[in-house]
Amino acid sequence: MYKSCHLIQHGLCFFNDNLAACCFSPVDQIDGQLPPLIYEKYWGEIIPVDELFKRMDKYADVFKNGGCPRECKNCYKIEEKDWDNKRYIDQITITHFSMCNADCIYCTNNHELWERTSNTYSIVPVLKYFQEQGIIKKGCELHIGGGEFTIYRECDELLELFAINNYARVFVPTNAIKYSHNLFRAMDEANTYIIVSLDSGSRNTYKKIKRVDAFDRVMDNLKKYAATEKSREAIRLKYIIVPTYNDNIGEFKKFLKIAKKLGVRNLIIDIDARYSRINNYKIDDYFVNLAKRMNDIAIKQNFTTEFYSFFFQNTNNKEFKKDNFITRFIKSIKFKYFDKELKELYIHHRYGAKRFKY
Ligand code: SF4
Ligand code: SF4
Repeated sequence: MYKSCHLIQHGLCFFNDNLAACCFSPVDQIDGQLPPLIYEKYWGEIIPVDELFKRMDKYADVFKNGGCPRECKNCYKIEEKDWDNKRYIDQITITHFSMCNADCIYCTNNHELWERTSNTYSIVPVLKYFQEQGIIKKGCELHIGGGEFTIYRECDELLELFAINNYARVFVPTNAIKYSHNLFRAMDEANTYIIVSLDSGSRNTYKKIKRVDAFDRVMDNLKKYAATEKSREAIRLKYIIVPTYNDNIGEFKKFLKIAKKLGVRNLIIDIDARYSRINNYKIDDYFVNLAKRMNDIAIKQNFTTEFYSFFFQNTNNKEFKKDNFITRFIKSIKFKYFDKELKELYIHHRYGAKRFKY
């Protein structure tokens, strides 16, 4: 029995020029540290399995010996238990591309990388190799990060490799500007889930936030994605509160109307990460109360809600624990997950991973 992290032993995260165990380091946002890197420079090379695990063991051994790698300090994922120490991978994140067909005002992707990562390395060969070597567990989680997955050139191949054949549970953030039939099949026939940040209930607000005039197209595509009961359940519609753009109940009610019309039940409420960072992760009462009201209205209309947060990963850090959005939520409202552990609730959006409860 000792303290360690599942991802340090069984996780892989493919960045655009390195390979890490996970996508987030809790110290990252505080002093610029990177997540635990398995390869500092990585560009899609086939890695012999022994070599991969030897490198992963370097971090795992620090935990085993009672320590904690610097990159993992304060991470909420650390837990004390009997670790199996077996060699397999069961959580993969792909975030080595960042091209997108939207231009959201809150996007944290480095747009300068768009051009560069449009030529990013191919990931299918290395994942196929790992699959053939038997180190990727069936039923694993595949999280897509980066830019817009539906325009990534290996989108269809990856969906075929992992999703449609039910090899993995796949989590895809998509802006739904481009419809992918394979993605729909994966939602309808297998265990693939999409998160669509609509952030609005009207074309005007959508355009101001997403900075593309694609509201109507997104509506059409959402209709296609929501065509069956199973595919509808696989959709999370997200409302990111963007101060001064959509921070009002009127817009949120229009958003709910759309969700209702689509038959989508599962909603996510979040706040613009830039706002929280600029404000040192302290959220003004106005937004806490607004989100509380949004939650109440949604619950009354039989939606399910989840709250995501950029700073959730820092909840083990005293500073963040003291007065962050989430703890204030917990103090101020009762919502359906009230009794469950905080750490099961949130995703470190885009760079991170959330354990979905389906
Ligand atoms: S940073 Fe956190 S999630 Fe990543 S390997 Fe370390 S403890 Fe695990
Ligand atoms: S859809 Fe996602 S990746 Fe694209 S601009 Fe918006 S936040 Fe960024």
